[in-house]
Amino acid sequence: MRVNIDDYRGVWVYIEQKKGQLLDVGLELLAAGRDLADKLEVDLCGVLLGEEVKSLTKDVFEAGADKVYLIDDPVLHYYRTETYMTAVGDLVRKYKPEIFLYGATSNGKDLASAVATDVLCGLTADTTLMDVDVEKRLFEASRPAFGGNIMATILCKKHRPQMATVRPKVIKRLPLQAGRTGEVIEETINVKEEDLQTKVLKIVKDAKKAVNLEEASVIVAAGKGIKDEKGFAMVRELAETLNASLGASRDVVEAGICGHDHQVGQTGVTVTPKVYIAIGISGAIQHLVGMQNSELIIAINNDREAPIFQAAHYGIVADAFTVVPMLTTAFKEALSHSETEEGVTSRG
Ligand SMILES: Cc1cc2nc3c(=O)[nH]c(=O)nc-3n(C[C@H](O)[C@H](O)[C@H](O)COP(=O)(O)OP(=O)(O)OC[C@H]3O[C@@H](n4cnc5c(N)ncnc54)[C@H](O)[C@@H]3O)c2cc1C
Repeated sequence: MRVNIDDYRGVWVYIEQKKGQLLDVGLELLAAGRDLADKLEVDLCGVLLGEEVKSLTKDVFEAGADKVYLIDDPVLHYYRTETYMTAVGDLVRKYKPEIFLYGATSNGKDLASAVATDVLCGLTADTTLMDVDVEKRLFEASRPAFGGNIMATILCKKHRPQMATVRPKVIKRLPLQAGRTGEVIEETINVKEEDLQTKVLKIVKDAKKAVNLEEASVIVAAGKGIKDEKGFAMVRELAETLNASLGASRDVVEAGICGHDHQVGQTGVTVTPKVYIAIGISGAIQHLVGMQNSELIIAINNDREAPIFQAAHYGIVADAFTVVPMLTTAFKEALSHSETEEGVTSRG
């Protein structure tokens, strides 16, 4: 079904919250949305759903939004596709935004695809770069394609809104502007709990210890150069010494050496730690897209031509099996000294 695209104006960002806490990704997307909205000379709007979440609008304005569309209702206490899709779909039909961004979290991806089928528009998944052709008011959503060998820019010319998901940590947040405010537009949802097919009976936490690479400030990551479980244990010891999280390339995950939740890259997680130590990782583009925005990258590889050295700030051309145990021993020693010194200082 064709829509009159001239009826659609404004840039929207889905502001995801969990248990009344905003997820960073929504605030990150407000930075990208601000740029698009300024170029198009339209309002930047947040869309906030949940139960008792009105107080969160303050943070959304301080992160750059001009307006917030708010639906605060007990039926939205838990994320459920039915309720969230209906709420957002109705908002889209009523207010007609031209661009709509969502964080590529599990719920964000689910919601964006459900809304796309509800309002019949396109959706670009895992966008990494965004711009706009102001004259044609066309949103340009770019993402790696063909195994990361090219960047594809995807346009949605005939349907509105133009929607995209963006992974957490791809966009840098704007500094908060304390005291910045805007307009809250409160709407209601026309769904009642008794009408719903899906009931949340209980939330059961995954028994598996979650690996939270996205929040880690130091990551030590293993590539296929570490060969096997024994090599991985060597890398793990360095990570534990540094109190770092353990990352891996896809080849290590596919070899069954560790789980997928450790995978960094295009089909894993995107990370931006203060320090990323890549051990025996060649630096394929699909890995680089997931870690190249780290503040400091240190690469250890025995091939001086390995592409990882192009992305690294410091490189060690050496056999990992020699260098990694040496580093672990040196860090253990240095850290035990600093602990002793701290003890002396605090006692003294
Ligand atoms: C659609 C698609 C999505 C993908 N998604 C991802 C993704 O999310 N994440 C990801 O990582 N990959 C991904 N890949 C795979 C990617 O293309 C590479 O194949 C992968 O990253 C290579 O992993 P690696 O660097 O560990 O292994 P290799 O490329 O085999 O590199 C091993 C490196 O170790 C070095 N080495 C060997 N022995 C030693 C030693 N003793 N000491 C020091 N160095 C040593 C070698 O010189 C080499 O540079 C994807 C591919 C495709 C097509």
